[in-house]
Amino acid sequence: MKLKQSILNLTLNELQQWVATAGEPAFRATQIFDWIYDKRMYDFDGMTNLSIGFRKKLASAFHVLDFSVSNRQESVDGSVKYAFRLQDDGIIETVHMPSDNYDTLCISSQSGCALGCRFCATAQLGIHRNLTVSEIISQVLHSHSDVNRRCNLVFMGMGEPLLNSENVFRSIDIMTGKWGLGWSSRRITLSTCGIVPEIERLVEKGLDVNLAISLNAADDKTRNRLMPINRKYPLKLLMQCLSDYVFKTRKTRVTFEYIMIKNINDSDETAKKLTKLLNKTHSKINLIPLNPVKATRYNPSDSERILAFQKILSDAGFLVRIRQSRGSDILAACGQLAGDSLNKSEEI
Ligand code: SAH
Repeated sequence: MKLKQSILNLTLNELQQWVATAGEPAFRATQIFDWIYDKRMYDFDGMTNLSIGFRKKLASAFHVLDFSVSNRQESVDGSVKYAFRLQDDGIIETVHMPSDNYDTLCISSQSGCALGCRFCATAQLGIHRNLTVSEIISQVLHSHSDVNRRCNLVFMGMGEPLLNSENVFRSIDIMTGKWGLGWSSRRITLSTCGIVPEIERLVEKGLDVNLAISLNAADDKTRNRLMPINRKYPLKLLMQCLSDYVFKTRKTRVTFEYIMIKNINDSDETAKKLTKLLNKTHSKINLIPLNPVKATRYNPSDSERILAFQKILSDAGFLVRIRQSRGSDILAACGQLAGDSLNKSEEI
């Protein structure tokens, strides 16, 4: 028997082809996706404008969601962390952060992570595997059940999206396709540690999502220590790629994420180095006080230090914000996603 795959892996074109081989007109594909992405109907049986025979055919070829919610934890600030158990037992997490205006969904692109950044809990898991397109989209459908709430989506959960580019790029097509979730690419942010050739590919493919770079240092020596990937793609190469590819083609600024770590990357001298490294016209900087992570000896910078660091950058003409993390009480903040909730508590 042929194994069923998730219909969420398919683009409209691909589903139209499948529908044709099943002897139905092409517009059935649009109807099916309308049920899934607009009406959030995940059971083919409930797709009442399709014939019963065709619904049966669909159900024998496909399933919709890849997993159910294994655990759901709510923070005092209203953020919700979802844990999902993959079919091969890996755990991934997604965070929903509500707000008056646009909510934010933080989704994972890999199960575990291969990068080994010294300050990040996900790094301690090592890499398990890349997520499929349907596993990426399933996270969105589970954590964004209220279709009326407007949403920003950030690839800032577990994993490095540009080490799973094929599936991440395809999932962006589904998120932005009128036939899919129909979200604006302006509302999607891809965060990367700086996988240079894949940033080039993203631009060449014309994917107009916002780009965030996890920078965290102003020189190679410090960055090598914090983020081993810097040995492969050092700052000079990364900055060259951004000015050759990204700054020239984009109207929107690149966001540089900078974790503030006490006595490691938070001196006045470092802030001055940053003003030389970055281009103020094309950049905005987010300073993030380090979130505590088990098994690292790093501490967050004091708030006076962060303010002094910010002042040097803003006096030099940079747009710079201090970003307060959310959900740290349930280990849902940046760098804290490690599937702990499922190790500690019962599954639902
Ligand atoms: N691999 C991607 C996306 C995942 S990390 C990337 O590197 O961008 C998402 C964000 O969380 C990054 O900006 C990263 O620098 C930040 N982060 C990781 N660990 C953190 C910690 N302990 N405290 C605060 N931010 C952290």
